[in-house]
Amino acid sequence: MRPLNVQIRLGNLRHNYQILKEMHGGKLLAVVKADAYGHGAVRCAFALADLADGFAVATIDEGIRLRESGITHPIVLLEGVFEASEYEAVEQYSLWPAVGNQWQLEALLIRHWKKPVKVWLKMDSGMHRTGFFPHDYASAYAALKQSEYVDSIVKFSHFSCADEPESGMTEIQMEAFDLGTEGLEGEESLANSAAILNVPEARRDWGRAGLALYGISPFGGSDDRLKPVMRLSTRIFGERVLQPHSPIGYGATFYTSKSTRVGLIACGYADGYPRRAPSNSPVAVDGKLTRVIGRVSMDMMTIELDASQEGLGHEVELWGDTVNINTVAEAAGTIPYELMCNIKRAKFTYIE
Ligand code: PLP
Repeated sequence: MRPLNVQIRLGNLRHNYQILKEMHGGKLLAVVKADAYGHGAVRCAFALADLADGFAVATIDEGIRLRESGITHPIVLLEGVFEASEYEAVEQYSLWPAVGNQWQLEALLIRHWKKPVKVWLKMDSGMHRTGFFPHDYASAYAALKQSEYVDSIVKFSHFSCADEPESGMTEIQMEAFDLGTEGLEGEESLANSAAILNVPEARRDWGRAGLALYGISPFGGSDDRLKPVMRLSTRIFGERVLQPHSPIGYGATFYTSKSTRVGLIACGYADGYPRRAPSNSPVAVDGKLTRVIGRVSMDMMTIELDASQEGLGHEVELWGDTVNINTVAEAAGTIPYELMCNIKRAKFTYIE
């Protein structure tokens, strides 16, 4: 079998949840949308079942999948419904829908619910994507409050720059949120991973942890408090020595400057490794750092080996413990979220 392996360390996931929950206080949703950021939503949800206060997903299908696999916790549908007819499934599967615009609100209010629903009412506090503007929020809240079908309302908003503390955006958004919700009773939710870690005033009734739950620092680099959950590795299946001034790979973007030992590894952009990762992006052979040289191909890529490094058959870590995924993401001009969500054609192994 092609040796591309993803290990998901569920013990690390549990560790991260506990750390984040302790830091946030109150209740904490484990954000498991996009198949738990590529980690496998059902496996992750079950690994967290005895710890988690609830889960958050982006789509109805993701919520249904968790319910049908036996998850009975609260599940928040972060973007709400995309069509009014989806409220049928929201009710059938007991999901908590977000409401972030007028048509979602109206469709919810005209429906005859068999049992009252808990609604997450979203405010656009400055990201300008979804949610009611602060000045419209109280009237949306009042419309829900008057409905016999609404059990309770969680007021929430999402930060655009919590991972960039120097931007000042988080404080601006929090101020808008606090003003727009003044006098409105009920629970609140503001903090994503970066805010849980770095913005104490954003820790309200419910936190919503994604990236940090998977052990990745939202601020780049690493965070000693968190343990990476995903480890992507492969093996060297070809090895050769190239003369100085030899070009490598498509586009001949890299030339050896000296006699160079090159390892060929079974991972490429069709597996989700970013093609934009340039030469010098880090990988590790048997725990020792080295680098990608030449362009990433569809099914393989080439790495440099020094004289002391093992070759053929040896393990190469693409990210996980020795190689920080934030470093790979930065080199490739992307974010760790995208890298983790994109992994395909790999064998997943879950470790307790
Ligand atoms: N809350 C909402 C509404 C989100 O869309 C997301 C993720 O995009 C999160 C929370 C989790 O964010 P993070 O992965 O940065 O913790």
